[in-house]
Amino acid sequence: NNKIKIGIVGYGNLGKGAVEAIHTTNDLELVAIFTRRNPENLKLNIPNVKALHVDDAEKYKDKIDVMLLCGGSATDLPEQVPHFAQFFNTVDSYDNHAQIPNFFQSVNEVARQNQTTSIISVGWDPGLFSVNRVMADAILPNGENYTFWGKGLSQGHSDAIRRVNGVKDGVQYTIPSDEAIEKVRSGVNPTLETADKHIRVCYVVPEEGADRAKIEHDIKTMPNYFADYTTDVYFITEEELARDHSKAPHGGFVIRGGETSNGHKHIYEFSLKLDSNPEFTASVLVAYARAAYRLNQEKQFGAKTVFDVAPSYISPRSAEQLRKDFL
Ligand code: NAP
Repeated sequence: NNKIKIGIVGYGNLGKGAVEAIHTTNDLELVAIFTRRNPENLKLNIPNVKALHVDDAEKYKDKIDVMLLCGGSATDLPEQVPHFAQFFNTVDSYDNHAQIPNFFQSVNEVARQNQTTSIISVGWDPGLFSVNRVMADAILPNGENYTFWGKGLSQGHSDAIRRVNGVKDGVQYTIPSDEAIEKVRSGVNPTLETADKHIRVCYVVPEEGADRAKIEHDIKTMPNYFADYTTDVYFITEEELARDHSKAPHGGFVIRGGETSNGHKHIYEFSLKLDSNPEFTASVLVAYARAAYRLNQEKQFGAKTVFDVAPSYISPRSAEQLRKDFL
């Protein structure tokens, strides 16, 4: 068959989301999932898909067209992407914004040498949000970009509240401030600090007999995490936590307010509201796998970003179809 053959490296939330996303396509085929753990323990049970150790990946050089790298940004991807780019076209979701230029360089070097194509930092932010920031800025040069995140579950902040004395369990949501969003939408291009743009909402399961007032105080005054923000703390039961807070929602807004002649104001806005951050992010990776394959066929080797990929490259539809139905 002439389907694009896909491999997945790393079987966490994103890797699992990628399996689902590939299933919804007609032009992509999942060949194997590679893990650093014992592959037998993954208990895959997906027809025709093998679970293999990462050390065996190189043998699949001619059997896989694009490898989706689904490891974590902190330590996995900086190592795994340059490694796998030696043998495969790759797509990853590296999201450490400050380090992206260095990451690009290290991947680009390897991919150029080996005539592979690697699309880096794909997802929604970085990813779809980045594309929209660039479009808005190019079209309305006289203006200001704003990015708001949420409502979203923040793993780092949830971990932080769980470390507070007397806390049994808990989650933290980052929520864009309505007031700040309305100000931006009004076109006044306000100066906003991170703390003005978002509020933090904590749902906490206290240990029996714990001092709730002290827990609330300890959370709200925690430096770096909460002290600079408006923070709300709600106490809930373990049952409520399991029932109402087990999804991984996320999303946000990219908004640019800009002016053209005679003070004419324009608001460019793009937003996402996601029930599952990893499933959506994996869906973006899977769409960009088509682009990695096609760019490589055109001998466009090296590292690329979402800025370099034309929309038709991520679509399963033909150029004719796209012109007819979507233009
Ligand atoms: P994760 O679930 O923690 O998985 C990361 C890696 O940890 C997996 O690839 C897996 O590698 C290993 N792992 C997973 N479950 C494990 C377990 N039970 N025991 C031992 N190891 C386990 O992370 P994720 O939620 O998939 O997110 C991956 C990255 O995506 C994040 O670091 C984030 O930076 C990025 N991301 C980007 C965007 C964006 O918009 N660009 C959005 C969301 C997330 P092995 O299979 O090799 O063990």
